[in-house]
Amino acid sequence: MVPPPNHCPALVLNADFRPLSYFPLSLWSWQETVKAVFLERVNIVSHYDRVVRSPNSEFRLPSVISLKEFVPASRRPAFTRFNVFLRDRFTCQYCGRPFPTHELTFDHVIPRSRGGRTTWQNVITSCSACNLAKGNQMPQVCGMVPLSPPFQPSAHELQENGRAFPPNFLHESWRDFLYWDTELDPL
Ligand SMILES: [Zn+2]
Repeated sequence: MVPPPNHCPALVLNADFRPLSYFPLSLWSWQETVKAVFLERVNIVSHYDRVVRSPNSEFRLPSVISLKEFVPASRRPAFTRFNVFLRDRFTCQYCGRPFPTHELTFDHVIPRSRGGRTTWQNVITSCSACNLAKGNQMPQVCGMVPLSPPFQPSAHELQENGRAFPPNFLHESWRDFLYWDTELDPL
């Protein structure tokens, strides 16, 4: 069975043949990919069997492409809810259990009502139950101290954490570029 072209995203590698990002995995739609190929911004590393046709030509859809120009990772990652979850590996920093993103929230270690700030150093990933239990108490008072002290991560540390969370869909041609040590079941 031939998959529709919109099921054929290309894995985007940096010029050093590492994925531009791991989590979320850097993928481009086939349209973006074809455009970048014609603009000569990327090299084609691997193909799908899928072909798209125009009246005059046909084009095999790339499954892996690499940028011709290296894009340096930004050194200071953005302070976002998602990046806090990623730093903490989607694990509640009070009870130590992992949760899906939609069940996670964040917590101020020093509550805002007591002068705690919204920074990398004071915000942690928390499940709803722990968040509720802690409320506005100071960590030492309620005995809820984060498992590891919150810190400002580097882009590299977030990338490394992202590697631990494989995406749902993996084409077999991507494997060589993604993980060295993990067995994965491609769909
Ligand atoms: Zn918890």
